[in-house]
Amino acid sequence: MNRIEIPESFELFGREIQVNIIPDLAMDTDDIGEAKLRYDEIRLQKSTEGYPISRDRQMQCYYHELTHFILNEMDYIFRNNKDEEKFVSAFSRLLYQAIKSAKYKL
Ligand SMILES: [Zn+2]
Repeated sequence: MNRIEIPESFELFGREIQVNIIPDLAMDTDDIGEAKLRYDEIRLQKSTEGYPISRDRQMQCYYHELTHFILNEMDYIFRNNKDEEKFVSAFSRLLYQAIKSAKYKL
């Protein structure tokens, strides 16, 4: 399995997006990740003693929020939120699995 990291920031069309890992995100928002599109920020729940979260789940969440950002940059419009979440969930899981399971020649 590849060692992949969650970055501090990344760029989309030259726009810098910050990735912040926050100790009480789940308590404040009842979610473990959010894409703050207008603030150029992805927020992820930090794994804490009171709210343990596996690395895999956090990575999956990162790719989920990243996919929201990419679709937003593409001006891709879904009919409704449910359609968007369905697409984003499936696409980001597959993307993460492909990256995680990729094998390279040494
Ligand atoms: Zn989502």
